Amino acid sequence: MARERLVVIGGDAAGMSAASQARKRRAVDDLEIVAFERGRATSYSACGIPYWIGDTVGSEGDLVSRTPEQHRRNDIDVRIRTEVVAIDLEGRRVTARDLEGDREYTEPFDSLVYATGSEPMRPPIPGIDAAGVHGVQTLDDGVALRAELDRDDVARVVVVGGGYIGLELAEACQVRGMDVTVVDLSPTPVGTFDPDIGSYIADAVRAMGIDLVLSDGAAAVETGPGGRARAVVTQSGRELPADVVVLGLGVRPNVRLAQEAGIPLGISGGVIVDKRMRTLAEGVWAAGDCVESVHRLSGQRVVVALGTHANKQGRVAGINLGGGYATFPGVIGTAVTKVCDLEVARTGLSEKEAEQAGFSFVTAKVDSTTRAGYFPGAQPIRVKMTAEERTGRLLGAQIVGREGAAKRIDVLATAIWGGMHVDEVLGLDLSYAPPFAPVWDPVLIAARKAFEAVEAQTRATACDP
Ligand SMILES: Cc1cc2nc3c(=O)[nH]c(=O)nc-3n(C[C@H](O)[C@H](O)[C@H](O)COP(=O)(O)OP(=O)(O)OC[C@H]3O[C@@H](n4cnc5c(N)ncnc54)[C@H](O)[C@@H]3O)c2cc1C
Repeated sequence: MARERLVVIGGDAAGMSAASQARKRRAVDDLEIVAFERGRATSYSACGIPYWIGDTVGSEGDLVSRTPEQHRRNDIDVRIRTEVVAIDLEGRRVTARDLEGDREYTEPFDSLVYATGSEPMRPPIPGIDAAGVHGVQTLDDGVALRAELDRDDVARVVVVGGGYIGLELAEACQVRGMDVTVVDLSPTPVGTFDPDIGSYIADAVRAMGIDLVLSDGAAAVETGPGGRARAVVTQSGRELPADVVVLGLGVRPNVRLAQEAGIPLGISGGVIVDKRMRTLAEGVWAAGDCVESVHRLSGQRVVVALGTHANKQGRVAGINLGGGYATFPGVIGTAVTKVCDLEVARTGLSEKEAEQAGFSFVTAKVDSTTRAGYFPGAQPIRVKMTAEERTGRLLGAQIVGREGAAKRIDVLATAIWGGMHVDEVLGLDLSYAPPFAPVWDPVLIAARKAFEAVEAQTRATACDP
């Protein structure tokens, strides 16, 4: 029997998870696997880039979990510095461009995994493509930014957009001794958080010595000699001098090739996939930042560009390609980051998302400490919860605080995943000892308050004439 051929486009989390899982399940004489990667690295942690730029992580190599050579030893034919430039679904082949040798060739496939990730958003403003303007998505992007920051004549960085990646990179540049300004059109940074949590983030950013310009978007990148960025001009006319400009506006799925090939996209802009990560095109699979996922609470199809999902989705695609059976269960919007020593985390729906999904809800907030209040090292923590009106189903939670605060979100993510109501969360048997938590963990107090809010709301509505 002729051996089958799997082609993978994109050599990071989703693509190489899919390739590795398929390889694990099917022998080399049964399935040949060719993986194309535009950059130099495979299976790297983009999430670690800000920490490498800020010197918390020692070297670029530390961010790579599996090199092309290691994949090749695992019988995956990895072609780095090779970009796929076209997919011919009918002819069952891709066109690849060798970026080093500058030549194009075609490769046939029986099955295809589309795992091209996402790309940083670039606002359509003058000068956005100038030299010195950096989006950071891949390890090569991180290398390029770090090389710029190493230049003697670079001292001022403007980050356009206060998303979590923008803030992580802003902190990294600030740690390196740069003058950093973050400019964002919204009144609070990291728009995936509710504004009251966002204002804590804004305070932490400013306390770090980063200049935060809010409610004022970037209108243009001014260029100087050689067409290089020299300032960002805001919509209100402020000129923010910049030797380097970093894009922190978020990302969008990298779907151009899929679209050109006729692989259907959803209204969210990501590739449509089913639970097994099959696209609507025969024999074509997709995974990672480039696909849309089902939000388990809202039921909506959403694009959520996170490494957690990319790895899981790639694994699911690979198991199925390998002849097994696996499904991706959807997302609930769990995320965590830190700004200097402020930890922030979220899960479920934000207030805005809950409104958009049509829920009526109550919210509760509690300010407490990460350890027993009397215990050395106790840090402040705020837990905010959103629960559905009447039913009390937990819809969302956000946490902001110092060391030990953020990972508590996982308890609440698990509760949401299991469809728990706030009175059930309130009764959870969570661990306690003074070095780890107050006897009433902030998560439990927030649930209690949310439950009281649900009851009060129910009573008030029942009294309505
Ligand atoms: C700075 C930063 C910090 C982050 N922090 C976190 C975090 O803390 N937690 C978290 O969960 N997520 C985080 N993420 C997101 C996470 O890194 C991504 O969700 C994850 O990398 C997506 O994996 P992927 O395989 O879908 O896409 P990618 O990692 O983007 O990989 C896609 C690959 O495809 C290649 N490619 C694209 N087009 C082609 C083509 N035509 N031909 C050949 N190759 C191609 C690209 O070069 C790239 O290597 C962060 C991302 C960044 C950039």
